[in-house]
Amino acid sequence: MLSYRHAFHAGNHADVLKHFVLSQVLSYASQKDKPYWYIDTHAGAGMYALDKGYATQNAEFSEGIARLWDEPNLPSALAEFVAQIKQHNRSPDLRYYPGSPSVAQDLLRSDDRMRLFELHPNDAKLLRQHFKSAGRKVMVEQEDGFAGLKAMLPPPPRRAVVLIDPPYEEKRDYQRVVDALKDSLVRFATGTYIIWYPLLQRPEAQQMQDKLAKLQLKSWLNVSLTVHTPSPEGFGMHGSGLFIVNPPWNLPATLKETLPVLVAKLGQDQGASFRMEHQIP
Ligand code: SAM
Repeated sequence: MLSYRHAFHAGNHADVLKHFVLSQVLSYASQKDKPYWYIDTHAGAGMYALDKGYATQNAEFSEGIARLWDEPNLPSALAEFVAQIKQHNRSPDLRYYPGSPSVAQDLLRSDDRMRLFELHPNDAKLLRQHFKSAGRKVMVEQEDGFAGLKAMLPPPPRRAVVLIDPPYEEKRDYQRVVDALKDSLVRFATGTYIIWYPLLQRPEAQQMQDKLAKLQLKSWLNVSLTVHTPSPEGFGMHGSGLFIVNPPWNLPATLKETLPVLVAKLGQDQGASFRMEHQIP
């Protein structure tokens, strides 16, 4: 089933949290003088127009990146992230929003590499087009990202940041994520793995977090942002989170400073809040 198109959701609160954290993780990885690979198992289209097509349907970006666009007093890490998104817009207006591969491209250095997987034929085509001038630095494969990840590990430079960001439209994605992480840690224990998850009222979403917590990992961080009270009908996504294995040591401090601001700016009612737990030796 491939009905999910990320363009409907581009720039929403979940993208803001995910891409902000991704940019923090990659900035840190880029500080060390040794190349690394960025692997995106579910890469999407790479870049999204917000003023035409799918993105205009529910204009989800208006509850996400648009709320930060003209904010003058953001904490420096968040201000730098908004400036990064502004770089993708030629005019001062918010018209384009980058997907995770484009956020990563901004931070990778000349010796770093990107390996992108996207199964949907239309988005894979858009992704290829978007990176057509990147040469060997970027590889785009139209194939299953879970299988693709297996084949990539361990990566030749023995350093990697992996984003696992499935649509979870199929219930089996929750278990596939846990299995993929377990398998990846056997192949390549020192990689940094970022798993995105939705906050929903269905049990699979919470069960996946419980299973990740039970892996007894040495170094991890779990952060989530709730933007509104869960609906009384039990439907809809009230927030999102990221479970990170082998996170940068300085990430908790940055998130402690920025998450309250994201709650204030992206929160839609009194139920808005954040949670962060971590263990980083
Ligand atoms: N990572 C992107 C970003 O942050 O900009 C968004 C990705 S979106 C949440 C999930 C993507 O996974 C969709 O584009 C969908 O077509 C794709 N997809 C679904 N199943 C897949 C699979 N098994 N392997 C690779 N891509 C898949």
